[in-house]
Amino acid sequence: MSFETFPLDARVRAGIQSAGYSEPTPIQLQSIPPILAGRDLLGIAQTGTGKTAAFMLPILQRLLANPGRGVRALILAPTRELAEQIHQATRVYGKRTGVRSVAIYGGVGKKPQVDALHRGADIVVACPGRLLDLAGERAIDLSKVEVLVLDEADRMCDMGFLPDIRRILKLLPVRRQTLFFSATMPDEIRGLADTILHDPLTVQIGVSAPPKSISHALYPVSSGLKKDLLLAMLQRRAGGRALIFTRTKHRARSLAKDLGKVGYRVEALQGNMTQNRRQAAIDGFRGNTYDILVATDVASRGIDVAGIAHVINYDMPDTADAYTHRVGRTGRVDKTGEALTLSQPEDEPIVRQIERVLGQTIERRRLAEFNYGGFNPESRPNGGNGHSPSSARRASNGNGHRPSAARPSASHPSVSRPSVSRPNPSNPSRNRPGRSRPPRR
Ligand code: AMP
Repeated sequence: MSFETFPLDARVRAGIQSAGYSEPTPIQLQSIPPILAGRDLLGIAQTGTGKTAAFMLPILQRLLANPGRGVRALILAPTRELAEQIHQATRVYGKRTGVRSVAIYGGVGKKPQVDALHRGADIVVACPGRLLDLAGERAIDLSKVEVLVLDEADRMCDMGFLPDIRRILKLLPVRRQTLFFSATMPDEIRGLADTILHDPLTVQIGVSAPPKSISHALYPVSSGLKKDLLLAMLQRRAGGRALIFTRTKHRARSLAKDLGKVGYRVEALQGNMTQNRRQAAIDGFRGNTYDILVATDVASRGIDVAGIAHVINYDMPDTADAYTHRVGRTGRVDKTGEALTLSQPEDEPIVRQIERVLGQTIERRRLAEFNYGGFNPESRPNGGNGHSPSSARRASNGNGHRPSAARPSASHPSVSRPSVSRPNPSNPSRNRPGRSRPPRR
């Protein structure tokens, strides 16, 4: 099935080509035709499924088919990173169309955004707070909006944006097309969807489980050993970018500092950083200045960096949904990736929730030749919970992996491989040994 089957303008097709897409993803296949036909849509889709193009290509098509003036499409997103990412994707998809997109979010100066709006915007990608700010100052007119997209609606509610969204809805024409995307559908979100969608088509891709291309492993550990275990895991990695998650901004900052001290090329990404610094961190990660990014959940929203080999949960996420979002940063679309999670005994309830969403038991691993002291990674809290495969209690297979119930360990051997310095073809000056490996430890 190719994009040719969709009735899209040649200028939109050129954008698809610039993006390098050859085939539509499942959500694109299911959503593009009804959106082109003008239907409202409820998309229950996990991260990394290609939903941006699913809504943006039909929006571009609409704008080209019926020329008009003013802000005609509004996309609401929970974080600046996601807003910026959607804006950048729009620039790629709309490269040949002449359609103008402006990103609106807080944490940076208003003036460049206001100036860009004055120059003219057909599409606005915005975070709710700054958008309301600008609307209050009459710097933006939303009365011409024909299409509203709510992206990551569940996360917007989590972040307390529901009242803002309701205020924004009052500024929009009642007659419009509404596209609503959410990875999960808790009652609050279902209620919002019911009130703002008109006879929607529901498209569900996965049940908020991470893409199948991602493999999962747990590294049981006590809190005092976490940092040492992480360092040992990093040393044995085969290379590629690693995205590490911590629970708090402070832990992200201090872990990044510690990893930097032992020689890693690492940056933090957390909510206390200015937007410019956050963007520089993401750009540095994408551009190979950093091999490791240590992020918090909220700050990581919208990180779209190709080639993240490992997502490492240094701290367990609070919910299974947060796990899905974190690990979705690797294995995007058809790439494979590994999600490695350091788990403390008290994390067991959330591990069970995650396993339910995944529909599989996560492989427990002991890192070979790591000194666990008095901690026994094979012991299961509460004497086991029925989820543990019998293999999880077998002896280590000697290469650092627990044998997996779901997959043979040979299918994801990267952590146990001896560390090798990977040459970096894009920048030979970085290929010196020790640049991407810690000089000591
Ligand atoms: P999204 O879910 O929109 O954030 O997209 C996730 C990733 O998939 C992004 O890196 C997109 O560039 C990529 N992507 C989207 N659609 C396609 C496609 N049809 N083929 C290959 N990659 C895609």
